[in-house]
Amino acid sequence: MRTYISEAFDKKGKVELQGWVHDSRDLGKIRFLVLKDISGRIQITAHKEKVSEEIFKLVDKITNESVIKIVGSLKESKQAPGGKEVIPEKIEIIAKAEQPLPIDVSDRSKTELPKRLDYRFLDLHRQKIQAIFKIESTLMQAYREFMIKEGGIEAVFPSIISSSSEGGTELFKMKYFEKEAYLSQSCQLYKQMLACSMEKVFTIFCVWRAEKHNTVRHLNEARQLDYEEGFADEFKVMDVLARCVQYIVKEIKDKRKEELELLEVKLKIPKIKYMTFAEACDLMKKHKVHAGKDDLSTEAEKKLGELYPDTIVFVHDWPIIGKPFYIMPKEGKKGEKLSGGFDAIYNGVEISSGGQRVHIPELLEKRLREKGLKPKDFKSYIDSFRYGAPHHSGWGVGLERLMTQMLGIANIREVTLFPRDRDRLTP
Ligand code: ATP
Ligand code: MG
Repeated sequence: MRTYISEAFDKKGKVELQGWVHDSRDLGKIRFLVLKDISGRIQITAHKEKVSEEIFKLVDKITNESVIKIVGSLKESKQAPGGKEVIPEKIEIIAKAEQPLPIDVSDRSKTELPKRLDYRFLDLHRQKIQAIFKIESTLMQAYREFMIKEGGIEAVFPSIISSSSEGGTELFKMKYFEKEAYLSQSCQLYKQMLACSMEKVFTIFCVWRAEKHNTVRHLNEARQLDYEEGFADEFKVMDVLARCVQYIVKEIKDKRKEELELLEVKLKIPKIKYMTFAEACDLMKKHKVHAGKDDLSTEAEKKLGELYPDTIVFVHDWPIIGKPFYIMPKEGKKGEKLSGGFDAIYNGVEISSGGQRVHIPELLEKRLREKGLKPKDFKSYIDSFRYGAPHHSGWGVGLERLMTQMLGIANIREVTLFPRDRDRLTP
């Protein structure tokens, strides 16, 4: 029966291991292999005198990244990493890796990201790359746990829609039998409709945006952690978001220590800071940074990250002009045209937008017209608020954005298994 490598360190006697050959060394009379599986690495040691001739020869022939099965005995060893090694008795090659490998998968690999992404399946043989996706898995699990503790209901929503959810132009059009349809750019309208009966709803939703710009923060296919709550204003859901991210970070700190160490990341539970859009603008003026008018500029987001490191900065009371039609307008103390919308900035980049929504049909129609959109294109959405819909608020966090900002990784593709950007459609 197969033993995972991490468990072998607590065992004695004979074991059967299966995994990939990470590295090999030939010192003449003694040959080493480093075997890896999902749980760890162990040294396989073949002394010329202590193993059969057949095994000694075979050890020399196995190419790196080949998959093998080894039966051997465990031995204490001061020199071997982890204090144990395996003396092989039987070796079976399950799958040979062809040589040369198209990318360098050693621990010190310098292969550049685009090339690595071309061979992502092989890139995933690397511990460091696995660490990223193990952390991402813990992130999603922690998100679900948090939401369920919060009383949330997990939902799934359609990805094929008949019209734009926000009225932007950055949609992928598709043929839907005799009609035209689009790939969803957000589950906004659906989660709102659901929150008006189920109160607290959440989902992990895939979004498609036909944005042409190729940046290190944008993908054309991304995932969002979405939340919507009935009877809530924006401050209530900002607090949920703050606690949610803090919970996620804590879980990752606790459960992914090894992975964080491998990536050399010292995670801190984020602090929370609230400021109005006007306050953010004043702050930028003070630091001589262009703030942006209706939206925070990229430089302003970056500055907020410098001023408040390891902090989630909520910028609220956003000018209504900078927010989509479904965000609730509100008036400032001096009559400014503000909104219940907010953005959350984490280590210098927006990780989330959210806010209180418009739940009053007449106001929705007015807001749509103001944005140059046709209320008739949003009929079923508007109608959903005609028969008893409470006020409600919510947010969406980019899964990959949260990963990059939490781990300090520059390029969003690094934390995306199989990224879709303007130039990349495979693998
Ligand atoms: P940005 O201004 O940064 O392009 P946005 O305001 O267009 O983002 P929202 O519609 O507010 O994005 O989406 C909610 C969240 O989803 C964002 O805060 C971000 O974390 C993430 N997100 C949005 N667009 C993308 C994208 N193209 N690639 C990756 N993540 C994205
Ligand atoms: Mg946004």
